[in-house]
Amino acid sequence: MNIYLDIDGVLLDNESNAADYADEFLKAVIEKHPESTYWLTPHNRKGENHAKEVLIPHLNPETINLLDKVKSSEWKDLKTDAIDFNQDFLWFDDDLWPNELSILERHEALQNFMIVDLQKDPNTLKKLAEVIEKAKHI
Ligand SMILES: [Mg+2]
Repeated sequence: MNIYLDIDGVLLDNESNAADYADEFLKAVIEKHPESTYWLTPHNRKGENHAKEVLIPHLNPETINLLDKVKSSEWKDLKTDAIDFNQDFLWFDDDLWPNELSILERHEALQNFMIVDLQKDPNTLKKLAEVIEKAKHI
């Protein structure tokens, strides 16, 4: 199972605050998938990876240590370019562009897209962390 993580609107609520339960969520994801968690964010794009430095001021030091396990991804225009559709995956993001939606649909993978809407439910990451911790197959 590959895990793809956006940052803005998912792990960070805004430029100066982490999302509630971002530490718990990251710990659950990375401990369960230490070999197959990837950044999928504009902070890691076009060969540059600033994901960790963007998160450092906002997360617990223990969580920051775990971030070294998260792998870089390769994409330029569409995030779906980074997704390996031959593997099972979950993609956590607050946004989906129409072109990306079409590609997910073409691969019959719309159910692998996990929308995160922090405005609607600030406890989203807490709930997702619990699901990931409990699930055997995720
Ligand atoms: Mg985002």
